[in-house]
Amino acid sequence: MPKIAFSPTLSRYPQIRISQYTQRLKQDGKASVLNLTYSVNGNDYRQAVSLAKTACNYGGYRFWFICPKCHKRAGVLYCVGAFFCRHCIGANYASQLEQPYDRLFRKVEKIRHRLQWQAGIAHGHGAKPKGMHKKSYNRLVWEHDKLVNAICGATYEYMERNCPFYKRPNAS
Ligand SMILES: [Zn+2]
Repeated sequence: MPKIAFSPTLSRYPQIRISQYTQRLKQDGKASVLNLTYSVNGNDYRQAVSLAKTACNYGGYRFWFICPKCHKRAGVLYCVGAFFCRHCIGANYASQLEQPYDRLFRKVEKIRHRLQWQAGIAHGHGAKPKGMHKKSYNRLVWEHDKLVNAICGATYEYMERNCPFYKRPNAS
């Protein structure tokens, strides 16, 4: 049986690249904010990401995301419940959240492995593995969802504390 790698890597996080949006942004030359809508664990979220434009050497310009945490330009943002640049995931999550956060990720990936689901919570739920009792399956799914909610909850609490213009969507 292949061993699952649990080491945290950036590729684990869903990501968006500015190149995905360049075409649309060039048509709407004045765009300064990108309104993202995305889904985490079946819940829909919205996040407004500011944009920057820099001139290219050979004419035209290039678009950038402005990271909601450090306000620096970035070409790629990573979703940890909400979108940040790679440095903010590295620096802030390493120092503040990585311990509990990583443990949650490890636990949730262990459960996904037992369920034979594709690694990574971004892939959502998979099917019940053949031969697994319905009762065990339901218990594992319940534990899985509890961990995913904990991961997302930690992220949103962090965002609300550290990102002044970030508002949790659909907060109840
Ligand atoms: Zn950042």
